[in-house]
Amino acid sequence: NYIAGRWTNSTAGDSLPIVDPATGDLLDRVPLSSAVDVGTAVAAAVQAFPAWRNTPVTERINSLFRLRTLLEANLDRLAETMTREHGKTRDESLGEIRRGIESITHACAIPTLMMGATLENIAAGIDCETIRQPLGVFAVITPYNFPVMIPLWFWPFAVATGNTVVLKPSERDPLTHQHVVELAAQAGLPAGVLNVVHGNHTAVEALLDHPDIKGVSFVGSSAVAKSLYARAAASGKRVQALGGAKNHIIILPDADFDASAAAAVASAYGATGQRCLAGSIVVSVGDAYRPIRERILDGAASQKLGSGLDPAVTMGPLISRPHRDRVAGYVDAGEKAGATLIVDGRSAMVNALPNGHWFGPTVFENVQPEMSIATDEIFGPVIGLTRADSLDAAIALVHRSHYGNAVSLFTRSGAAARQFRFHAGISMIGINIGVVAPMAFFPFGGSRGSFYGDLKAQGKDAIEFYTDQRVVISKW
Ligand code: NAD
Repeated sequence: NYIAGRWTNSTAGDSLPIVDPATGDLLDRVPLSSAVDVGTAVAAAVQAFPAWRNTPVTERINSLFRLRTLLEANLDRLAETMTREHGKTRDESLGEIRRGIESITHACAIPTLMMGATLENIAAGIDCETIRQPLGVFAVITPYNFPVMIPLWFWPFAVATGNTVVLKPSERDPLTHQHVVELAAQAGLPAGVLNVVHGNHTAVEALLDHPDIKGVSFVGSSAVAKSLYARAAASGKRVQALGGAKNHIIILPDADFDASAAAAVASAYGATGQRCLAGSIVVSVGDAYRPIRERILDGAASQKLGSGLDPAVTMGPLISRPHRDRVAGYVDAGEKAGATLIVDGRSAMVNALPNGHWFGPTVFENVQPEMSIATDEIFGPVIGLTRADSLDAAIALVHRSHYGNAVSLFTRSGAAARQFRFHAGISMIGINIGVVAPMAFFPFGGSRGSFYGDLKAQGKDAIEFYTDQRVVISKW
């Protein structure tokens, strides 16, 4: 754990292996920290808060500016560590770190973003102003699929606005962010401002119940997001909890079929399907079905499975053996429910790496809305093909989903695009874009079962989430 500016031993009796998902090799072990460790980290963050809050905003962001430079200088080393512990390709790792750097860049704009408002003479001789002030210590709890970028959606904003942080990264791939934390210290972030506690639900629960934690930023599966939201809110904390997803890609008959199918394939198979923005169900409207089916089959056949360190590889392994088996379980269930399996990735292998958690590109057709492959987040490289008679019927399918993270439409019609945007009812909407990933200056987050809270990640919401607006009314 990284507490008060030093790596410290956890009091944990237990630890978990961190395994390279391509080779099965043990990379390290991660301690499962106790409530005592969490208490020590929170105490360090509480102690660092008054001086950090009192540090001029320009100095606060200077360490973030320096961190950007250090991340850029260490890009290759960080990407390699990420590929080893997560499995994604080196290009995907580089892309992820670059998106994380964009968040830091946006957080560097805090002097402007954090400004309040003033109005003279709200009554005779009386003026009113709002100022934004930090709240104290925030907990940041993150998933395995973007081990550098997702923590950077949150903690740079929290610290730039003058708060201190306890980060609980995913226990499955916590190594790359450890380097980021070291670089942040090198960049001048004072001891205690950013602390890290490793562990699982035990550490999370201790953070949720700790009276000195003022708010919680969470990303992970919907079941955890929902229960964490209730538990943290019960003790009066602010919460933003981003959950899972089941994203539809709708393709109209007037779309550019080559571009639409290529975007759907990249969306579904990128990061081996382990993305909250992964396209999962491709809904072809009318005559789009045949040409899209054919192109998606070509796209599936063109994937090259293997170690993410091999530049020719397009799809790395899944994170763990149990997760691989879970994805396979969904494919079994889809077949049993009557969907037609036209490309089966269950027996995919990489001969040189027999211990990897391999799963090949998979395509189903005749997917019906009530099947578990249509309703549940699979988080693997599985595309479900389905048809609709009209855009309205396709949107109705989207509305049946319990999730509400992202949705995309491919069309050449401005009128259809407008109708879609108006009725989709989903938070991140793509028009002729397959992976709708808002840049750091826009809000990131879903709706319905994909999001619990009000203020999203990044954008202006981040500033609102990490500050309280105080109103000062004065008469002299
Ligand atoms: P996860 O829910 O298993 O874990 C997320 C975090 O919660 C981890 O830090 C983990 O230690 C902790 N945790 C796990 N179980 C817990 C419990 N019972 N109580 C308290 N804490 C618990 O998620 P994951 O498998 O690491 O990540 C994949 C999930 O994250 C997918 O559902 C994906 O869609 C979602 N995700 C969402 C977004 C988004 O923007 N909405 C982005 C990335 C990932």
